[in-house]
Amino acid sequence: MKLRDDELTTCALCGRDGHAAPALDGVLRRCTDCDFRWTAEAAPPPDELYDEDYYLTGGYQDYFASGRQRRFEAGRRLRWLSSVVGPSVLVEAGCAGGYFLEAARGAGFTVTGVEVSRVAAAFAVDHLGVPVRQGYFEQVAPSLRADVVCAWHVLEHVDDPRRFLRAARQVLTPGGWLALEVPNIASPAAARLGHRWPGLQPEYHPWHFTPTSLTRLLAATGFEVVRQDTTVFRFYMPVAYRMRHARRLLPPDLITLRSPRLTHRWRGDLLRVIARRPRDGRNG
Ligand SMILES: [Zn+2]
Repeated sequence: MKLRDDELTTCALCGRDGHAAPALDGVLRRCTDCDFRWTAEAAPPPDELYDEDYYLTGGYQDYFASGRQRRFEAGRRLRWLSSVVGPSVLVEAGCAGGYFLEAARGAGFTVTGVEVSRVAAAFAVDHLGVPVRQGYFEQVAPSLRADVVCAWHVLEHVDDPRRFLRAARQVLTPGGWLALEVPNIASPAAARLGHRWPGLQPEYHPWHFTPTSLTRLLAATGFEVVRQDTTVFRFYMPVAYRMRHARRLLPPDLITLRSPRLTHRWRGDLLRVIARRPRDGRNG
């Protein structure tokens, strides 16, 4: 699964070689042809990176202790997904500790998760009782079939986003839905905060998407974008917390979105997309 070592100068989106310019003080590379951005330095493979340390102290700051927060996020995502698709067979790639699967099952979906991290997959099975298979989604995919594939904050972590999306397409029934969320490096907050933007995380994120690059990648892998918008980190914080910390949280979001709303077509930190595998089987 180590595709990236010899691909750091090749654009994963348009495939051009030798058109990569340094960006963000050399932390990133940017394709001068298509504007796609990726992290210059290759990360260790995901099954090594997402061990216990990641979930307890690293990217997540004790993921397992914050069940209430995870359930709130899961509820937000489920409500958004349910505006397009009803209860059906759902696979979540990169399900972490399983909170979204728990919420989706509660709403009537038949759920399966795939998670590369052993510690997270075990938590989902042992503590939430949701069915999760430990492994790489790209490798497990041929044995799965679903009407919906979800991947919340996964695509920016994978070895090869094209291969991941092709695997998702293979899992989906014709007309099936793909729901994604990734950080939006085209957001004004990303430009304003640079290295300090919380969505950057170059040690964990090899890929940095914009609404344009994600749409292009989805089209190239056989999907039609049905819905796309962006939101801010505050969107996933419970109302009581937002009120308590309004003085700190509200001003930067007002600058970013230029409105008191929590969503915007492209200005938010987090990019959400629902795409569809066309019914007529075009693009293979
Ligand atoms: Zn490119």
